[in-house]
Amino acid sequence: MNEIRVRFAPSPTGELHIGNVRTAILNWIFAKKQGGKLILRIEDTDLERSTKESETSIFDSLRWLGLDWDESPEKPGEYGPYRQSERLDIYKKYLELLKKNGKIYPCYKSGEELDAIKKAAIERGDSAPYRRKELEATEEEVEQHIANGEEPAWMFEVGRGEIKWQDLVKDEIIFQRENVGDFVIFRSNGSPTYNFVVTIDDALMKISHVIRGDDHVSNTPKQILIYQALNFPLPKFCHIPMILGTDRTRLSKRHGATSIQEFQNKGYYPAAMINFLSLLSWSSESGDEILSIERLVKEIDFNRMSKSAAVFDVVKFNWMNGMYIREMPLAVFVDKAMPFLNSTQIDISDNQKVTEALALIQNHVEYFEQVSELVEPLLQDVIQPVDGEAINISSKDSSQKIYWAFLRRLNRHNKLDANVFRLIMKEVQTETGVMGKDLWMPVRVALSGKIHGPDLGKVAEVLGKEKINRFVKNLID
Ligand code: GLU
Repeated sequence: MNEIRVRFAPSPTGELHIGNVRTAILNWIFAKKQGGKLILRIEDTDLERSTKESETSIFDSLRWLGLDWDESPEKPGEYGPYRQSERLDIYKKYLELLKKNGKIYPCYKSGEELDAIKKAAIERGDSAPYRRKELEATEEEVEQHIANGEEPAWMFEVGRGEIKWQDLVKDEIIFQRENVGDFVIFRSNGSPTYNFVVTIDDALMKISHVIRGDDHVSNTPKQILIYQALNFPLPKFCHIPMILGTDRTRLSKRHGATSIQEFQNKGYYPAAMINFLSLLSWSSESGDEILSIERLVKEIDFNRMSKSAAVFDVVKFNWMNGMYIREMPLAVFVDKAMPFLNSTQIDISDNQKVTEALALIQNHVEYFEQVSELVEPLLQDVIQPVDGEAINISSKDSSQKIYWAFLRRLNRHNKLDANVFRLIMKEVQTETGVMGKDLWMPVRVALSGKIHGPDLGKVAEVLGKEKINRFVKNLID
């Protein structure tokens, strides 16, 4: 197998989870690095849970990220169709081949009977519940079932011995067939199972490297057996460690946003997302964390990937996203920030003022959803302290003293810029004897209503004398 062909094979049953996004990114980087092709295959065999909307949203999300691919349902290559629901005839053909070479056998057991067999296996400590000798119907039974018009499930006989492969990330992995047990490849209702279809598809689509999450490690021995039974060449397998939350439990809704769309809606930046997710199980030898796509493609080394689970730390992601936002030219930042202001009550009619205000907060934004909160005080006519702490600060005696002194000093200056503002604050400090936090916080609350935010000198510059007068007076009892 010379050509490098990798695939991303999502099931269209909802929005893309961040773990799948990372799998897509790593496949994409791998293809770029090796000069190979990325194939997008839709695994929609679960007809009840699969929807067209999910499929569309998955494609939209991948495009938003900036990924591209070579073959997909909308961009068929020579190995289509690229939706599993359209490949049933192909699966049936390979089912017939397996019937002929004796690797599979029919099973007419009911769901309850299978449950009972499984329960008994668990009770005797057997990790593989199903074996041919217990499941296979005798010839007479088969005849009887056929006469009754019943269809069997088709079981793959696993047999005995070792199954092993050299995993690109996890090194050698060995399974004992005795612990795998026979498994269904076609259900009695005529639908094929995941392990069967994924193997047929990967083989026929000439996938050279199967890069996926390590939740699939236990499926791989079954898939290898199917490859061997059909004389398909084996691809290389690469199982990427799963992602945990900071409490080291599986990443879920409890940890906050987990789907790509949630991050997109909050205003994260695609390149930052690619950067961050690529670094979950791998780091650059240079120690650098902000890595362009070009550098990621060049430097990433699957052999140096960690074998154990990765932790998704949203605080770190926010920091990284903020670094990308800081690097944007102002015009790009404004362009990306505007949609997040359009949907608020904030008056954005004065283009120049809005741009000036956005310029002030650019270094303080971690993701675009924060823009409105940061920019609002800069564009408002009245400021009210927003929470208990801010209200307490503004009503303290020392704060009131500061406000009086501040207004007096402010009105002695004709022009107000960041430097004049600092000078005024120095004068207020000298006059009132209050300094540090106790001096700056009340002024910050008056100018923004908040206790955190951008550089105050710059805020004052944007607000201007008239507005500052009004804001400070508003807080004088
Ligand atoms: N459709 C499978 C999933 O979403 C992918 C299976 C695979 O990569 O082999 O988990």
